[in-house]
Amino acid sequence: KVVTRFAPSPTGYLHIGGARTALFNFLFARHHGGEFKLRIEDTDRARMPEGATEAIFDALGWLGLQWDGEAIFQFARAARHAEVAHELLAKGGAYKCWMTPEELAAGRAAAEAARKPFRLSSPWRDRSDGPADQPFVVRLRAPREGAVTIDDQVQGDVTVQNAELDDMVLLRSDGTPTYMLAVVVDDHDMGVTHVIRGDDHLNNAFRQLALIRALGWPEPVYAHVPLIHGPDGAKLSKRHGAVGAETYRDMGILPEALENYLLRLGWGHGDAEIISREQAIKWFDLAGVGRAPARLDPKKLEHINGHYLRETDDARLVDLIVPLIGAQNGRNLNESERALLLRSMPELKARAKDLNELASASLFLFRTRPIPLDERAQKLLEPPASDLLSQARDALAASADWSGPALEAAIRELAERIGVGLGKIAQPLRAALTGSSTSPGIFDVLDVLGRDESLGRIDDQLR
Ligand code: GLU
Repeated sequence: KVVTRFAPSPTGYLHIGGARTALFNFLFARHHGGEFKLRIEDTDRARMPEGATEAIFDALGWLGLQWDGEAIFQFARAARHAEVAHELLAKGGAYKCWMTPEELAAGRAAAEAARKPFRLSSPWRDRSDGPADQPFVVRLRAPREGAVTIDDQVQGDVTVQNAELDDMVLLRSDGTPTYMLAVVVDDHDMGVTHVIRGDDHLNNAFRQLALIRALGWPEPVYAHVPLIHGPDGAKLSKRHGAVGAETYRDMGILPEALENYLLRLGWGHGDAEIISREQAIKWFDLAGVGRAPARLDPKKLEHINGHYLRETDDARLVDLIVPLIGAQNGRNLNESERALLLRSMPELKARAKDLNELASASLFLFRTRPIPLDERAQKLLEPPASDLLSQARDALAASADWSGPALEAAIRELAERIGVGLGKIAQPLRAALTGSSTSPGIFDVLDVLGRDESLGRIDDQLR
C-alpha cells in the first residue's frame, strides 16, 4: 500500500512550496488508493513561533488537504528515536564517539589549510574503550567504499560517493536525536513508502538512505521536486511578497484555484490547464513532475482564480464574501440584503478576479442614500450628463414593467429618440446608481435595486 507524508517544520505559516509538496503527496496517495500522513517536525523548539502548528493545520484545512489518521509530532517521539540509535549501537552499525569540540575544530582547520573539504574521521570508529563517564555522541558507522545511487523519480539516478559522506551524528551528547535520525525513524514507523519533498532535501536523502540500510529497513521511493522560484527566477523568499498559503486566502484566492495553480506549477498533463481535484487524482503521477524550478506567475493565478470564481455556486460565494462586506461596511448584512446579493451574484462574479474585488464590487448594493460617489462617478455626472440622467429618469419612471429587458427597451428608445449612443446615457445612470464608473450591467443593477431605490438614487443626483 502506498503511504506518503507531508512533514512541515512549523515556521509560522504554510510556505506555498510546502503547500505544493503537500498537494503532490496527497494526490499521489489518493491516486494509488493509499494514505497521506502528516508529521509536524517540531524539534527546533526555540525557533517555533506561537501558533505555528495551528497555522499549518488551518492552511491545510483551507486547501482541503485532509491527512489520514492523527498528525504525528516529531518532538514527542524522541525516546523512540534514541531507542533505535541504541539498537543500532548494539548491532555495531553505530558507535560512540568521544571526540571533543577542540578535536573537531582542529580537524576542520587542518582540512582548510590543506584546501580540502573536511571529512570527519573519528578515532572511535574502531575503538570502544572510551571514557565511560565522559559525554559522547552516537555516530553512524557509514560505509567508506563504494557509492550510493538514488533512483529518484524526478531527478533520475543521482549518485554520491560514500567517501563523501561522514559518519553522521545520530544522538547528541545530551542524548537527544538528530534531525536525520528522527526523519528516518518516523518515516519507517509511519510506514512511508514514497518520500516526495523539495529537492533541497536531496543531499539529506543520501545520508538517510545510508542509515536506512544500516538498520536493514525497507527503502522508500524518493521524488525530489524542484523548488518554486519567484517571478524573477530567484528562489522564492519573503522578499517576493506572498509566500504563505494563507496570504493567498487573504488576497481573495479560492482554495481550489490555488490548488489548481500549484498543481500546474511543476506538473503537467498534456496541455490541460483547468484541472479539477477529481481529474488530478486520476492523472497525477511523478513522471509528470518537471525537473526545472517553476516560476510563480501571479497573472496566471489571477486568471485561474477568475475561472473558479465564475464556476463557483452563487450561494457559496455569498457565504464567502458576506464577512468581507461586513468588514468594509462596518455592519452585517440583513436577510433581505443577503438575498439581494445572491440575486446579483451572476452579474457580479462575471467581472471579479478575486473575492476581495467581488466584495468591493457589491458594496453599492448596500449603500444608504445618498450614496457616496467616487471621483470618476462625479465626473460622469457633470453637465451635460445630468440632463441625460434626468431624461433617463423620466423614461424609466414611465416604464410599467420594472424588469431588466423592459427598462433596457425604454432607455434604448430614449437614446434613439434624442440621437445619442446608449453608453452616453448608461454612464451617468451607472454613476448615480452605484457611485462608481464600473459595475454589473446597468439594467441588471436597476433590476436588483428595484424601482424605489433606483429612482431615489437618481433623484439624489438631480437635486
Ligand atoms: N521538515 C522538512 C521541511 O519542512 C521536510 C523534511 C522531509 O520532508 O523529509 O523542509
